[in-house]
Amino acid sequence: MPILIDYHVHIGQFEEVYYDPLEILQIVADSGVSGCAYSSTTSGKEGITYGEIRKEVELAVSKFSSDTFKPYLWYIPSYRNEGITIEKAMDDLPYKGIKIHPRANNWNRSIPESDSILHELFGFAGEHTIPILIHTGPNGVDAPATFEDFFAAYPNAKVILAHCRPIREAIKMLKKYDNVYGDTSFVPKEWMAQLIRSRVGNKIYTGSDFPITHYMETHYYFERKNNQNFSLHDQYLIDSKEMETWEAMFYV
Ligand SMILES: [Zn+2]
Repeated sequence: MPILIDYHVHIGQFEEVYYDPLEILQIVADSGVSGCAYSSTTSGKEGITYGEIRKEVELAVSKFSSDTFKPYLWYIPSYRNEGITIEKAMDDLPYKGIKIHPRANNWNRSIPESDSILHELFGFAGEHTIPILIHTGPNGVDAPATFEDFFAAYPNAKVILAHCRPIREAIKMLKKYDNVYGDTSFVPKEWMAQLIRSRVGNKIYTGSDFPITHYMETHYYFERKNNQNFSLHDQYLIDSKEMETWEAMFYV
């Protein structure tokens, strides 16, 4: 089987559901996926402190080698008030990348303090040539172009636009900047075709967003909404199959 890496996995609290770090990573490991990058969605919780996230990641890395199951530090602006700089956090546990969620954590480009932290994050990612995964969306605040000056200023920072949203803008950034990549999580098939047609398919990482996929399936999608037996494991079989399909298409 070819090596399949899932670059977008989550552990922790999402809405009312708690996704146990060890259970989630075990499901990924059991599915035959060779490795993954994960971060904690607990970071989206109001008033969260670094100590709470630290506990989850520490538990995860105690059972799953960080060389193959790579924790990403989901950095939030309020860590600054706790004295948790990016250097300090990256030194604390074996984080292999950084994640930011501009909408959930209100990374406001018009607030100088918030912007100066972003410079530190991109600077760190550039200096250590590690990935920085950005949640992207259609709302301006999380649109890819909102961060364009950072892509240009930190060419050694490997930027991954999670969800490639909105697609046209994502493609523009992927074409313009060598250091900008995308991932497949929640990317509709038509967009995937667009990425391939635009010749940026080789810059797209496979990522599932599991277990958020399960949350969506069981809460919103009609067919499975009331199916109590639709397990996390069932979901990940679907997610990993889908990633395999894209992986094959990108690298033909
Ligand atoms: Zn995600």
